[in-house]
Amino acid sequence: AREHIRLEMESRSDNEEFARVVAAVFMSRLDPTIEETDDVKTAVSEAVTNAVIHGYKEGEGTVWMELTADRKDRCLTVRITDQGVGIQDIEKAMEPMYTTDRSGDRSGMGFSFMEAFMDQVEVKSEPGRGTAVTMKK
Ligand code: ATP
Ligand code: MG
Repeated sequence: AREHIRLEMESRSDNEEFARVVAAVFMSRLDPTIEETDDVKTAVSEAVTNAVIHGYKEGEGTVWMELTADRKDRCLTVRITDQGVGIQDIEKAMEPMYTTDRSGDRSGMGFSFMEAFMDQVEVKSEPGRGTAVTMKK
């Protein structure tokens, strides 16, 4: 009773909106509340934005989003993957207000939002190879 889709997109800021809407539509089969849907949309938005701006430094690349719905458990799994620069210290990167951004535009709260809005967040990353963020709701 598991359903799965995989979306491959160019590393572009405007694909963040697309990924967010796809996740919400896919998730509707689990009959979520509006709040649950909004939580997933926020988390997807943060993870895709991170892949685009940090993973690929706003340059060319590919971002993947995999969605798995388990109807029996009413559980959604979202995985956002990039093959960008990767993260040196994952624990540190996930600390609230930690950011490597020097422009002043970022607050370092992306991972904190993902953790707050999802039930489970797991980050795997290898410097020079990329990052995978897996989240469950
Ligand atoms: P905000 O999300 O509030 O705009 P931010 O993106 O810097 O700021 P987080 O999303 O919490 O904050 O990420 C923390 C740090 O982890 C980033 O500054 C970046 O150094 C690193 N990081 C996050 N995602 C990736 C990724 N996909 N590839 C490489 N580095 C990443
Ligand atoms: Mg971020």
